[in-house]
Amino acid sequence: MAVDTITSSPLGPPACEKDAKALQFIEEMTKNCDLVQENVLSEILSQNADTEYLQQFGLDGATDRETFKSKVPVVGYEDLQPYIQRIANGDRSKILSSHPISEFLTSSGTSAGERKLMPTIAEEMNRRQKLYSLLMPVMNLYVPGLDKGKGLYFYFIKAETKTPSGLVARPVLTSYYKSQQFKTRPFDPYNVLTSPNETILCVDSFQSMYSQMLCGLIYREEVLRCGAVFASGLVRAIKFLQLHWQQLAFDIESGSLNSKITDPAIRECMSKILKPSQDLARFIREECCEGNWEGIITRIWPNTKYLDVIVTGAMAQYIPILDYYSNNLPKTCTMYASSECYFGLNLTPMVKPSEVCYTIMPNMGYFEFIPHDPTNPMTISRDSPPHLLDLADLELGKEYELVISTYSGLSRYRVGDILQVKGFHNCAPMFKFIRRKNVLLSIDADKTDETELQTAVENASELLKEFNTTVVEYTSYGDTKTIPGHYVIYWELLMKDPGYGPTDDVLDRCCLAMEECLNSVYRQSRVADQSIGPLEIRIVKSGTFEELMDYAISRGASINQYKVPRCVSFTPIMELLDSRVVSTHFSPAAPTWTSERRF
Ligand code: AMP
Repeated sequence: MAVDTITSSPLGPPACEKDAKALQFIEEMTKNCDLVQENVLSEILSQNADTEYLQQFGLDGATDRETFKSKVPVVGYEDLQPYIQRIANGDRSKILSSHPISEFLTSSGTSAGERKLMPTIAEEMNRRQKLYSLLMPVMNLYVPGLDKGKGLYFYFIKAETKTPSGLVARPVLTSYYKSQQFKTRPFDPYNVLTSPNETILCVDSFQSMYSQMLCGLIYREEVLRCGAVFASGLVRAIKFLQLHWQQLAFDIESGSLNSKITDPAIRECMSKILKPSQDLARFIREECCEGNWEGIITRIWPNTKYLDVIVTGAMAQYIPILDYYSNNLPKTCTMYASSECYFGLNLTPMVKPSEVCYTIMPNMGYFEFIPHDPTNPMTISRDSPPHLLDLADLELGKEYELVISTYSGLSRYRVGDILQVKGFHNCAPMFKFIRRKNVLLSIDADKTDETELQTAVENASELLKEFNTTVVEYTSYGDTKTIPGHYVIYWELLMKDPGYGPTDDVLDRCCLAMEECLNSVYRQSRVADQSIGPLEIRIVKSGTFEELMDYAISRGASINQYKVPRCVSFTPIMELLDSRVVSTHFSPAAPTWTSERRF
């Protein structure tokens, strides 16, 4: 197989003394990847030797890779759930980790409709902070002068909740933004944000976005980079500007803050920043009033050198709209992380999105890899633990599924991400993010799998029973041409009595019934963040799915093995489906969501 190898050159010269240390750290970690991994595993196993979880596998104090791999099973969330549940219920014994569990991080991956709970320990925050501290030194290698201005980043916290035993459960970024490490970070000229902490730390997404956008406009000439964690966040921010520029301009003209911003901390800090400016208000009106949003980022923030957003994986769908908004500014995907563990960073951040690679930092946890070959899948059984590959064993061009062991107490846990080795930096593989397993639809942080979609369709089709109607086939599509994006579900119906089919009102209610069934991350995005729009059902003519099959077979699919794809994105298929639509229906209301969760 022909593979384009990426070889990464040594990192340097650094922009400043602090950067030199960070770059040296990266070089050391990547040169000694295997040794660092051996030590990390040994540390994790020594630290957690007396936990109930590890004790059952009879490691007898061994901390070496061989013993670990031969005795400890590879697991998924469901295997750990009973242990996690006990921690949530207040059992303070050393279950997974010998260090006290400081909080639960709630992943955007779900189990039984609720966010997965990842127990974490206090020292992990320092490890995450360490990875963050490496990002700007790498960026400074490629973009000089970032100390001469500010970064406009849209960062948000989400609602948190408490377990029955009083432990906080919240997303990892909420935990980070609320930490002392973030709130009292020392001044770093290379990392000055336009958003004051107060604007980030407001859980009301409207107030937070409004005040962050206002600051971005006020400091517009100083802004050198714009970003959000994921591409969907930056797209949402620009949409917000489209919806609210008149009020924002009014606030700037008058020097008074919109009365909808009621958070006292935001009002207090904005009172120091917001001063009347006729010129700026006029400028914003001129740029926005014509409704032309092409190049809006470069027009409003003309000194922006790049967009700092993740556009890999599911986020690749936002590349065209970001290119449109920014006149094709570079998009840097700086880091690869999860609630379970922060993994690594992009050492060549200015490359095209399709070439983005992440280098896993071997100090973050212990990483193993399952060769990913769909034609010859590896059997993973709990009874005979498999011998998985180490970071140092990986081959160029091959795909692997990531398995992690962490200081917080996850042992050989399958994250679900599929990565491909694209090159090496020193001895460390550089990975292209291929995809997350089992994700059918994703607009923002939501990840909906096939079973969830199936259940939602079944649930909604209950409403059709009284009309003697059934859903004979369905498929779905994540539509990001609308902002915010939304789920589109194509339904082919069988009406026993065509004269008495479901009314528009019933089909609208079917949309809502589907949404009610989707997981809590979906519903939170719909309700609290409004980062997903109302679900749409498109009814297609009878016979459409047969045509879909004919099309697939004409392109070489086997008639015996053909299965209806439960998610589509290929343009000719979309065109076929859309040309057969007889009616469209939208969810008439928001689904139920509360920050409380079931434990
Ligand atoms: P969460 O557990 O909610 O923090 O989500 C973590 C997951 O988000 C990862 O396991 C990946 O599937 C995805 N993810 C995180 N960073 C990236 C990235 N840079 N590119 C693509 N997907 C990512």
